[in-house]
Amino acid sequence: MRRLYEKTLKRVFGYDAFREGQRDVIEAVADGQDVLAIMPTGAGKSLTFQLPSYIKNDGLTIIVSPLLSLIEDQMLHIRERGERGVARLTSMETLEEKQAILNHLKRYRFLYLSPEQLAVPHVTRALARTPIQMLVIDEAHCISQWGHEFRPEYARLGELRKQLGSPQCMAVTATAPEAVKKDIIEKLALFNPAQFVHSANRPEIRLIVERLLGEQKLPRLIELVRDVPKPAVVYTATRREAESLALSLDDALFYHGGMSTEDRRLVQSQFLRDEVAVMVCTSAFGMGVNKDNVRSVIHFQLPATLEAYMQEIGRAGRDGEAAFAVLLYADGDERIQQFLIDQQYPKEKDIRVAYFERENGTSLSHLPRLLRMNEEDPVFGLLKQMLSERTLAGAVDWVKERKRDRYRQLGQMIDYALI
Ligand code: ADP
Ligand code: MG
Repeated sequence: MRRLYEKTLKRVFGYDAFREGQRDVIEAVADGQDVLAIMPTGAGKSLTFQLPSYIKNDGLTIIVSPLLSLIEDQMLHIRERGERGVARLTSMETLEEKQAILNHLKRYRFLYLSPEQLAVPHVTRALARTPIQMLVIDEAHCISQWGHEFRPEYARLGELRKQLGSPQCMAVTATAPEAVKKDIIEKLALFNPAQFVHSANRPEIRLIVERLLGEQKLPRLIELVRDVPKPAVVYTATRREAESLALSLDDALFYHGGMSTEDRRLVQSQFLRDEVAVMVCTSAFGMGVNKDNVRSVIHFQLPATLEAYMQEIGRAGRDGEAAFAVLLYADGDERIQQFLIDQQYPKEKDIRVAYFERENGTSLSHLPRLLRMNEEDPVFGLLKQMLSERTLAGAVDWVKERKRDRYRQLGQMIDYALI
């Protein structure tokens, strides 16, 4: 059996080894038990509910997810590895598209949907008629009023599960204090669930949040950088700030996506060889950087999501020795991220203009300029697709929904800073 899991991991996902905790969860799922899995962000929870589908090949795996952006990202990942048996039902599909999916449910291995869509009576009925392997509730903490992200639509999931014939059920989340955990089990009526908790997967990193007044931040940063063990990475939100902070700090260089490849490589290699003690950077720094002795990661600004934060602090202490992660937060810091989110998405009036230009048969080559967007921006690619497939209102809604998701994710990050 073990070999089978490993082989499937390689064949379907292309990975050589399971991450910590994944295999135990998969075994329980494949065994047919109800499961509650609490694993940190980025631990690889999706794989634990996707892989069993290839082992059992026994009907549809339904995944309920609260955010359109999460659904889109997951579908992209699944499609990238060549799986075509995946579909979604969200507020973004037209009625015809939804009906087409519901008419051919047997074609799909995975179906992603929002809790609202699952509650639509003819959707519930169509799903109740098809063989279901498992019902997965992603971000399951949304079910509990004790959590910070309670979603009223999640409250009905227990009842909907019953209407689907009480299929095997798996609840996954990154955060579940005891009260929330109890709520999840009760509300979903999980039967004697196998429970997995991997919360502090990096106990060697000491997490610190310092709340300050805005004007105290720079002096505090200078002091911190002097005192914390090094090498240290200082993350900030904008390129300009990365450059100016590096000037205020001793023994520091900056790194951001606006530099030439050559400059970036040079700066990176100096840091890797310990020729400079402090790297001040935007989130562009770190991907693929293998440096295991980073002792401190300091955030001068809030990252855009809790997931990004976890990834960035995860670059500290890779060697297993003690490390620090310090987040400096002043009330209102989130405004920078809000501004960046607003900038990333085109304005409604620009979408309108673009839409009518296209209707009138104008070539799409100047669309990026019309929308004030970069052609390589993935948001641009998706929006272009939206504009050609949907009505104007559909495209406008899509942008609104994406923005709302991003704000919600930023909200999670703010909650973390304030608790
Ligand atoms: P989360 O637990 O936050 O839901 P995801 O399921 O989104 O995490 O996984 C985070 C990333 O880790 C994804 O890019 C995924 O492809 C990758 N991943 C998951 N399992 C493995 C593995 N065993 N080996 C390598 N990468 C993995
Ligand atoms: Mg996830």
